[in-house]
Amino acid sequence: MADPRGFLKVRERELPPNRPVEVRLRDWKDTHAHRAEGQPFLKEQAGRCMDCGVPFCHQGCPLGNLIPDWNDLVWRGQWADAIDRLHATNNFPEFTGRVCPAPCESSCVLSINQPAVTIKNVEVSIIDEAFARGLVTPHVPERLTGSTVAVVGSGPAGLAAAQQLTRAGHTVVVYERDPAIGGLLRYGIPDFKLEKSHIDRRLAQMEAEGTRFRPGVTIGEDISWDALRRRFDAVVVATGATVPRELPLPGRDLAGIHFAMDYLTPANHAVAAGTPDELPEGAPSAAGKHVVIIGGGDTGSDCLGTALRQGAASVTTLAIGKKPPLERPAHQPWPTDPILFEVSTSHEEGGERTYLASTVEFLPDADGNVRALKVAETQYLPDGRRVPAPGTEHEIPADLVLVAMGFTGPETAVLEEQTGAEITDRGLVARGDDYAASLPGVFVAGDAGRGQSLIVWAIAEGRAAAAAVDTYLQGSTELPAPVRPRTLALRS
Ligand SMILES: Cc1cc2nc3c(=O)[nH]c(=O)nc-3n(C[C@H](O)[C@H](O)[C@H](O)COP(=O)(O)OP(=O)(O)OC[C@H]3O[C@@H](n4cnc5c(N)ncnc54)[C@H](O)[C@@H]3O)c2cc1C
Ligand code: SF4
Repeated sequence: MADPRGFLKVRERELPPNRPVEVRLRDWKDTHAHRAEGQPFLKEQAGRCMDCGVPFCHQGCPLGNLIPDWNDLVWRGQWADAIDRLHATNNFPEFTGRVCPAPCESSCVLSINQPAVTIKNVEVSIIDEAFARGLVTPHVPERLTGSTVAVVGSGPAGLAAAQQLTRAGHTVVVYERDPAIGGLLRYGIPDFKLEKSHIDRRLAQMEAEGTRFRPGVTIGEDISWDALRRRFDAVVVATGATVPRELPLPGRDLAGIHFAMDYLTPANHAVAAGTPDELPEGAPSAAGKHVVIIGGGDTGSDCLGTALRQGAASVTTLAIGKKPPLERPAHQPWPTDPILFEVSTSHEEGGERTYLASTVEFLPDADGNVRALKVAETQYLPDGRRVPAPGTEHEIPADLVLVAMGFTGPETAVLEEQTGAEITDRGLVARGDDYAASLPGVFVAGDAGRGQSLIVWAIAEGRAAAAAVDTYLQGSTELPAPVRPRTLALRS
């Protein structure tokens, strides 16, 4: 522990300021300024860590990140050791350090009676500093095993599995149906949260290590799942949970109502092409429109930031439930990760947030476009169900509606049809305790097996699934397995 009195001397959190709203709304660049350089307070913030005997931050982080170790190393300015400790548990801290909701901070012991250690900012500072100092280099395996692995899906789960398996000496090919690698990191999360150069420089490292990438290939169409199984010794299914939750209300088929991903993906493509205002043919734009976003989560917040940058006339986010509390409620005590009212960088930038809003109908104009939403106040029934309260309906004008109500699960039809793989009652690709699907040599990692979740869980599952694949191929493994799968049971 670098400074035994650090947490007594510095009692407040200090973070680098975000770029001013009026400046950042004019571009698509990261809203934060992250480099450790220019953060004179970083050392003393890292020094607030108490190096707890029982570091609850480890338990809070699905990756089991060695947080007190790297807090100490940052305090000492030992960047090379700090990145080694960070990479020991996390393949991609540049992603989690930017967009993880940081459950580690909710479980930080210091947060019992002081603001938590700024763990996430220390994490991203380490990896940014490491890249800037040339400390992130390829880890080429010393010998090849001769075994081959196909990873289907290039989100954080697939990439983590691929990097671990390549480093273990297997020949790994990552297949991705999108034109570029990255999964939701690339085409879901906008640049103002995660600039795509962070993905590209990590992919360069992975390619130098020997991982092969095949974007633009849909498994099940371009290559059948069975053919893939015959061609490779093992297959990792990391296809995400991409099926959106529908809102089947009267008027849903009107023009101008879209799923969030049908809005975000083309917007991200346009930003990647360097022409954010030139959307692909037929893609929805918020420019000059009254936008209503249904759903108050991460996806809705990303739609908000995108709509504001496209020049929306107004943006209203509707959430069906109550406004979450500002402070930890008694029934979500430390060290749990509480559900609190969050103000994302997009919320800072504008828009209105309405709670207890139950949409009951989409209303048309004369041309068949959406004109307004009919919305009622949400009423909670004694059995916990939420229903529209009769007599409270009112209209909210809208000419673009984005349905951002989460995802029901992965697309499983083709996999099931071509291989007979078991699917759980919740529609997830079934796997056992060792990430193995119901078919020999097939493993499942990330949202495809657990449902839509977080990047940190996807990385943790990708690492753990890699350990299971290595054991399957080699009989034993030295790869770490940070988490057990959430969906344990195969359907009987
Ligand atoms: C808009 C949005 C914002 C989010 N923001 C955050 C955030 O801020 N923080 C956070 O922690 N999490 C966030 N999440 C959740 C997070 O992105 C996911 O939990 C995570 O990306 C899941 O990783 P994955 O590797 O399992 O799947 P994905 O990232 O979904 O990747 C799966 C990939 O598989 C590909 N694929 C599917 N089927 C096939 C096939 N048959 N052949 C070839 N390729 C295929 C898909 O094209 C996709 O690229 C967000 C999600 C969304 C939708
Ligand atoms: S719980 Fe907080 S104070 Fe304790 S070791 Fe972890 S980061 Fe440091």
